[in-house]
Amino acid sequence: MNLKSDISSVKGVGAKTAEAFYKANIKTVEDLIRRFPRTYEKFENIVCVKDILVNERNAVFACLYTDAKIIRYSNKSVVTVYAKDVNGDVLEVKFFNAPYLLKTLKKGSFYVFRGFVKKIGEKYSMSQPKMYKKEDYLKIEGKIGPIYSQAKDLSGNKIEKTVKEVIDLTRYIDDYLFDSEIDDLKLYPLAESFRSIHFPKDDNELYFARRRLVFEEFLDFYHMIRSDEALSLRIENDKPFIEVADLRLFEEKLPYKLTNAQKETIKDIVNDMTGPYLMNRLIQGDVGSGKTVVAIMALLLCAANNAQGALMAPTEVLAVQHFVNVKKFCEECGLCIKPVLLTGKMPAKAKKEALSLIKSGECNVVIGTHALFEEGVEFNDLKLAITDEQHRFGVNQREAFRDKGLMPHLLVMSATPIPRTLAMVMYGNVDISIMNELPKNRIPIKNAVVAGSYMKKSLEFIEKEVAAGHQAYVICPMIDESEEDNFNLKNVTSFTEELKEYYGERVRVTCLHGKMKADEKNRIMENFKAGNFDVLVSTTVIEVGVDVPNATVMLIENAERFGLSQLHQLRGRVGRGDAQSYCILMSDSKNEETIKRLKVLNETNDGFLIAKKDIELRGPGELNGLRQSGELSFALGDILNDSDVLMSVIDNYENLKERLIGREVRAIDFRTI
Ligand code: ADP
Ligand code: MG
Repeated sequence: MNLKSDISSVKGVGAKTAEAFYKANIKTVEDLIRRFPRTYEKFENIVCVKDILVNERNAVFACLYTDAKIIRYSNKSVVTVYAKDVNGDVLEVKFFNAPYLLKTLKKGSFYVFRGFVKKIGEKYSMSQPKMYKKEDYLKIEGKIGPIYSQAKDLSGNKIEKTVKEVIDLTRYIDDYLFDSEIDDLKLYPLAESFRSIHFPKDDNELYFARRRLVFEEFLDFYHMIRSDEALSLRIENDKPFIEVADLRLFEEKLPYKLTNAQKETIKDIVNDMTGPYLMNRLIQGDVGSGKTVVAIMALLLCAANNAQGALMAPTEVLAVQHFVNVKKFCEECGLCIKPVLLTGKMPAKAKKEALSLIKSGECNVVIGTHALFEEGVEFNDLKLAITDEQHRFGVNQREAFRDKGLMPHLLVMSATPIPRTLAMVMYGNVDISIMNELPKNRIPIKNAVVAGSYMKKSLEFIEKEVAAGHQAYVICPMIDESEEDNFNLKNVTSFTEELKEYYGERVRVTCLHGKMKADEKNRIMENFKAGNFDVLVSTTVIEVGVDVPNATVMLIENAERFGLSQLHQLRGRVGRGDAQSYCILMSDSKNEETIKRLKVLNETNDGFLIAKKDIELRGPGELNGLRQSGELSFALGDILNDSDVLMSVIDNYENLKERLIGREVRAIDFRTI
């Protein structure tokens, strides 16, 4: 067997399993080795009940001294047993929706129970633990284990077992770096890295293994970009637009004065589109700096020049919001824009209609999600493509458009402060406009980092704000109870019920999450925006771009679960009007790093500073930390968190280039449109 062997030749992989592997795009041993773990878990040292860390995961060795009891309600059930450790201290253990355990859990049997523990009064209660025989647990105690994403008919465990069978073959992976280079670049050898990314000895080894593999990914990515010269050339603008009076008239009709930063950016855009080369511009503007209106003005210039423009948003909710906004401006200001909405989840009939309006050119502004432009939308005369990426990333879209025979001006809007070199890598030969100014009416948001015990006070505070005519968001990390292993995190469904009960008629509560149908989400957002609800409980679906200026409170539950930049985005949903706004970050975490991170938010509202701190505060200890940049689909690398690795790739590229010839580039699908 070697790296190129078919997956079906691995021990333990029968015909059926092989089929499942093929479906998951794993055809050879090498494909499997490149399927990296989604995350890792540490097997805690076994503790006694008295040494349990509350609100954390613990491994406790104990003996059942009762038989299991079950309580059933509607279609759910809870199985409860009681166990004692060597000191005779008691641990309550609960399992949700696992009635079959009634038979397995017998009085007198010993287990290592591993799960999250809460303290309720004097009682320690562990929910949904995994159970191990002691001798089995001792083999893994203190070690790190991989967790693989499951695929259809293929469990994470099966993947792990199969990887174990072939892991020794990693030693045949050639390294194209010399030993001295490996040392100089502070990298790990390639073969060793492939082994360690699956089965690391410790955090340190995992850190360096991952770093080397991220280096590989970025190198392939950079090589691909550099090999396609067309991506970095300036392209001549055959038909420059002419300046029109529409922009000035529109500006006069706006209900506010544009900031200087907005004016400068619009000037840059007009210069680009009326100039000799096609525009390729990135707007970097912090949350709330008013990027949308700038985009609308670019679309207006395009429409007034009888051409088509498109605005792409990262989420469905946001696409609809942009559409509603543009429409409102069209009606109020009599613009020559005829907008049409096109999203993946629209009913077939509406979609067909939209597609025909786009094809005929009857509509000159198309608003939709990124995904939409993967499908074969036929434009009449597309001359401008704007992507609103907020803090996510795409990359140079020139190539994707070129493949479709289109050569539009490109404008990307982002809230992430990425260094110039990085922007050049990602977006080609890009010009940058920085909007470093918030509209004048803004009052800085007041922040508080508090423990869960402040819940009642927070709810009272929200009630006060609502009584004064304002609205509030409450963010929970989970949608409902069914998300395993996370019972200790707040979920939208239960918390909405709790709030409805607590507030009664006084405050109108509704909720929103990603599992809802698109039109339901839109209806809820519109209702909230119209003021028909006071509190919106939601997951992070509202994280990007949502604009309800009347909302003044953002309460974030389990704030420790979110990355700094993500929290900053969430906070950016308030403070968008002229009233004082508040952000309450709630967390019971005792982890020092987490507290340090949350404090950063407490101290500043400056997104650029926060992004910088976020990177500084992430060390080797935070490997499973949250990915920031989402969209760009690297298997491991994160453009922002690993920007130093990318820089090192750029610095060494000239030197390595020759050796890359003939190398198979794989696993990167970096086109987002
Ligand atoms: P972002 O840059 O985060 O996308 P938006 O474009 O959504 O910000 O703008 C945030 C809010 O600020 C919106 O309600 C918008 O109408 C308002 N706004 C934009 N520009 C100005 C301005 N110059 N003065 C006052 N309010 C503004
Ligand atoms: Mg926006």
